[in-house]
Amino acid sequence: MSAVVNIRRPGKKPLKNTFNLPLVLTKLGQDTTEDPEYTFFCPACGTHHWFSTTGREPNNHCFNGDMHRPTVSPAIITVTGKHRCCLYIRGGYLQYLPESTHDLAGQTIKMENLK
Ligand SMILES: [Zn+2]
Repeated sequence: MSAVVNIRRPGKKPLKNTFNLPLVLTKLGQDTTEDPEYTFFCPACGTHHWFSTTGREPNNHCFNGDMHRPTVSPAIITVTGKHRCCLYIRGGYLQYLPESTHDLAGQTIKMENLK
């Protein structure tokens, strides 16, 4: 599996939501192309994870550009102090892979709207 390991890093301030519809992703300002580009809330970890479409391989994801029903590949793997979280984003749903170490492993849930 060609997946990316996201080491948790300090969040950047989100850009203003200029859409009227609720978004499930937030686009961030990047200082470099290696910085986090989009964040979303992960209810399994109780925190935000991120991905980027501008990083070097393999730290690079394909994103369909839909801020309401995003599809992102490959899998996003985040290692926090407590959990290893492996998920796909498909059509606005988070598909947690069985190798995740939290309670939602193996489940698919709708992404939460951001305020
Ligand atoms: Zn997570």
